Amino acid sequence: MVSRRFLALWVLLALSVLPLFGQMQSSAKPKPHVIVVGVNGMELDIIRPLLLKGEMPNLAKVIKSGAYGKLRTVNAPNCPRVYSTMFTSTKPEEHGVTGFLVGGITANTNMLKEEPIWSVLSKNGVTVGMANVPATFPTMPVNGYMISGMLTRGKNCEDGVLCAPKLSEVEGGEPVYPASMKAELLKNVGDFYIDCERMPSAEQLRGHETEVIDSWLKKVELIRDQQTKLFDYLLANHPTDFTWMVQSCEDRTGHWLYPIAPYNVGYNAKINSVRPDAFPNQYIGFDKVLGAILKHVDDDTYLIIVSDHGIKPLREFEETDPHAHMDHEKTTPVIAKHDFADGDDVPGSFFAMGPGIKHDLRLMGFEASVYDIAPTVLHIYGLEQPKQMRGRVLTEIFEKSEEKVAQK
Ligand SMILES: [Zn+2]
Repeated sequence: MVSRRFLALWVLLALSVLPLFGQMQSSAKPKPHVIVVGVNGMELDIIRPLLLKGEMPNLAKVIKSGAYGKLRTVNAPNCPRVYSTMFTSTKPEEHGVTGFLVGGITANTNMLKEEPIWSVLSKNGVTVGMANVPATFPTMPVNGYMISGMLTRGKNCEDGVLCAPKLSEVEGGEPVYPASMKAELLKNVGDFYIDCERMPSAEQLRGHETEVIDSWLKKVELIRDQQTKLFDYLLANHPTDFTWMVQSCEDRTGHWLYPIAPYNVGYNAKINSVRPDAFPNQYIGFDKVLGAILKHVDDDTYLIIVSDHGIKPLREFEETDPHAHMDHEKTTPVIAKHDFADGDDVPGSFFAMGPGIKHDLRLMGFEASVYDIAPTVLHIYGLEQPKQMRGRVLTEIFEKSEEKVAQK
């Protein structure tokens, strides 16, 4: 029988005022703990040799301890288009965020026409924390916190879609929910860059290739260090049931510094022979961030790593492809891209480990898709997927049916 006291506690839990009643936590069943780590464009072709060389020990550990494979993405994939598909498990045409620009305006959360996962979870009493997730600007109210990511508007964003405003330089909307948390972050984490650095233009590069490449990579390293500090601070000081954190420098580097030999479309020795290690180094850098996050992952935590798409070298006949060179700012001499008309050419990736998830399981083919992320997370919390969601629960990654739902 449910006692009056338990009912009262349940109401308190639902209202998320639990921290005030910390000593009572032990009498209530905690909700599952899920951390999603997103990478903007993880290319398995680049990852595999690094895994073999032992240069991504943390990702190797996750692979060994869980399930992994390709993640089918949408056609002509790009970051806002795919992340919004993951948020809502609906088609880009349905959720409304069809690309970087929608009707000439930079994609933003006010365009979302379908309910995102952070809202479904919040309504069901799950605490939510989101940091640097693309296309989450302006931030929306959640049962926890939200710090925006890629496509946040601010200083130096006037002439392009991508920019990297610092937290204090954001304009045109709130980068942090609740707004009161902004001062705390500035004090304890510092004035960090919200997104990865813009890519240099052909004009900036001309005649200064090595210098521009080196200083750009240094900035990328700084941004990653700041992001690591932010993630670590949030996981230590603001733990939430569900957390989603994303990095975006890998993709940005791959577009113009993909390590390919001559005879590829777009190859320019002045740029592409300077730092062939630059792009693989991004994933080695990512692995270190993952290591910092893993310190907050115990045996009862689900860790899911997702990438929205891969990235591949440009191909022959690019000049006649309507998607050619359309990535991001359109002014950078790119050598690789991801918005191929057929999304299966540049699949994303999926890694999961946690209580009841099979070990060392390889997902074959295109069974798992970006549409399946939200339903699978909801399932872990014992929540039915809303009717409009097109994905499915990835039941094959769980050991037993009764363990598909950890706690209810
Ligand atoms: Zn990209």
